[in-house]
Amino acid sequence: MAMPKLAPQAPVAHDKLRALGILALNGMFDEMDALSVLRYAVSDVLPGDLAIVSSFGADSSVLLHLVAQVDPSMPVYFLETGKHFPETLAYVETLKKTLGLINVHAIHPNPDDVKRFDPNGDLWETDPDSCCHIRKTEPLEPITEQYGGWVTGRKRYQTKERGVLPHFELTSDDRIKVNPLAYFSDADVIEYRQKHNLPEHPLYAKGYKSIGCAPCTSVVAEGEDPRAGRWRGLNKKECGIHFDFNGAIASPMTAATRHTLWKDGAFIADPFHEWTEESTPATASYKHVPLPVFLANRDAFLATQHPLGLLIVPGDRVEDVEADLGRFASIAINFPAFSDGRGYSTARLLAERYKYAGEIRAVGDVLQDQIPHMRRCGFNALVVTHEPTRQALIENRLPEVALFYQPVGLTEVPVGTRPFLRRVS
Ligand code: SF4
Repeated sequence: MAMPKLAPQAPVAHDKLRALGILALNGMFDEMDALSVLRYAVSDVLPGDLAIVSSFGADSSVLLHLVAQVDPSMPVYFLETGKHFPETLAYVETLKKTLGLINVHAIHPNPDDVKRFDPNGDLWETDPDSCCHIRKTEPLEPITEQYGGWVTGRKRYQTKERGVLPHFELTSDDRIKVNPLAYFSDADVIEYRQKHNLPEHPLYAKGYKSIGCAPCTSVVAEGEDPRAGRWRGLNKKECGIHFDFNGAIASPMTAATRHTLWKDGAFIADPFHEWTEESTPATASYKHVPLPVFLANRDAFLATQHPLGLLIVPGDRVEDVEADLGRFASIAINFPAFSDGRGYSTARLLAERYKYAGEIRAVGDVLQDQIPHMRRCGFNALVVTHEPTRQALIENRLPEVALFYQPVGLTEVPVGTRPFLRRVS
């Protein structure tokens, strides 16, 4: 299954849907059967702008059978995390063939992210949220951006958290999630499968009632919540791609609360979380540890397997962690004020003297006039909350710096130009 080359496309305006209102829509379809919900979503709510994410798990055949009836060419995306049971991969092919689905695509994680954050393939064990992030959430994001809405196979009966799942949800990024099977019970799924003679997932008969990645899926005992076998023993219920669902209708997110990490020419989801007072070496995964805290607990931090970050503020000496720089996937340098230039020197030390090859990110008061200088000094990631600066980055209109009165690195000459701004593709 090859990744489709789809042209980037802005989500369509959901005028009709907005006019009706999600609540009214849910009211209208409360009593409607699953096929009618899907038909209406495809023909009237978001025509040509809906796709499906399927896990090709135990219950997937029902939703995919509905899709085949409504439109077998609807795009179906399968998150090929690299951690599936071989039986699931075989089941993908079986369902494609049996149902006549002609637009199924596998989405793979970015190999660089896997190499960087999960080199041994065991991140699921120590930090499943981060594992799901790099293997599911991140790869799915550029795909979801191409559609105005998604069809999911989630059902109310599956967990307590999904107990009030509606047919239609508005997600935090202003898209629509359609859940045609929301009201299906376990018995309905079985009955539907039998009635239409749908192939069963090869592991279902062995006691796997909800099937995801192999390391995070176990057999469910009689009477247990069907999803109890997912991330068993961990306080984790969803993989991250469904976090928008909060039991009610999510509020649209404002632009200011969208991604703030600018990297490789785009705002992207940030795998790092905030370091808090409660954080410890055991919970430091994907957090920027303040340098003094790292030094005070160095052995404990170095003993962990987590991907670590380091936070440097003015006054911290990067020389003090020289021997450990290779341990950090990302180093955040704080600019507490626009006028404070010490962060530039720190970045240059990292890039030029220590040849640090990881992420050097600027955080704090990051404004558009500083960005060309930051890039010259080695910053390759920026956390930007200042809205005009965000717009300038998105629209690729940052000031070029033509004259280098203080050249940096080995390639810059005192007077000259260099095209160091990346184009937004
Ligand atoms: S379900 Fe498990 S193996 Fe799969 S991405 Fe999430 S944590 Fe990793």
